[in-house]
Amino acid sequence: MRDITKSAPEGGRSGWDDVGGLSDIRNAIREMIELPSKFPNIFGQAPLRLRSNVLLYGPPGCGKTHIVGAAAAACSLRFISVKGPELLNKYIGASEQAVRDIFSKAAAAAPCILFFDEFDSIAPKRGHDNTGVTDRVVNQFLTELDGIEVLTGVFVFAATSRPDLLDAALLRPGRLDRLLFCDFPSRQERLEILAVLSRKLPLANDVDIETIAGMTEGFSGADLQALLSDAQLAAVHELLSCADMGNPGKMPVITDDLLRTTTSEAR
Ligand code: ATP
Repeated sequence: MRDITKSAPEGGRSGWDDVGGLSDIRNAIREMIELPSKFPNIFGQAPLRLRSNVLLYGPPGCGKTHIVGAAAAACSLRFISVKGPELLNKYIGASEQAVRDIFSKAAAAAPCILFFDEFDSIAPKRGHDNTGVTDRVVNQFLTELDGIEVLTGVFVFAATSRPDLLDAALLRPGRLDRLLFCDFPSRQERLEILAVLSRKLPLANDVDIETIAGMTEGFSGADLQALLSDAQLAAVHELLSCADMGNPGKMPVITDDLLRTTTSEAR
């Protein structure tokens, strides 16, 4: 069987500094992951099972995947990521085994974050699939989640933009019972996201990202990322079209004008 888990977040390891906004979610995750790691003796003596499994939900592009990768890097945990549709496609007829294998792999890699992206595709409400495949996968998930203890050091995260499609049994206490909502960013959060995403970009001194944050109501983090990428491309084209293009040292700098124009076009 081909291994469909990824052991590091796409695009390399990031940390909390690479996340703009989402402070409530960040705090909730820190509390859940960092404290048990820092004080294992105290947590080891707590008789009640602690919540360590999270469902992140919210509109596409609002940072669900991004923040889990950041959490893994910030807390120095291994990161095992599985995309829901891949699990079903690659393992037709053996999907429950794949779920078992993934949880075993996570137990062996502990302390780690085990992340299921596009979770609705593998864990929909039971009783609607004629083949019975997803029903069996959901049953297997229930078994595995019931077997996980916080002290084993496997933190299970799942993400979906369609929580309404999930089988309700997965969200019962002791399973994916910590629900965290990633909404579209507020103006202040857009400013923070733009600051994070533009940190490594050549921005002209006149760029005013506060104005851009104000112009981008309803944009997700992914939209803001696309916006900066378009502005960068426009800067490249501008450089190519000017007389200086032969100068190899010249950078495609994003000016305030370019960024505003790109933003207006994207709205
Ligand atoms: P989907 O539901 O489509 O899987 P998602 O909510 O998981 O979307 P991400 O994949 O996390 O969204 O975000 C896409 C990209 O947008 C990220 O790789 C990152 O570059 C950027 N991004 C989104 N939110 C943030 C944020 N809060 N801070 C910094 N970058 C962000």
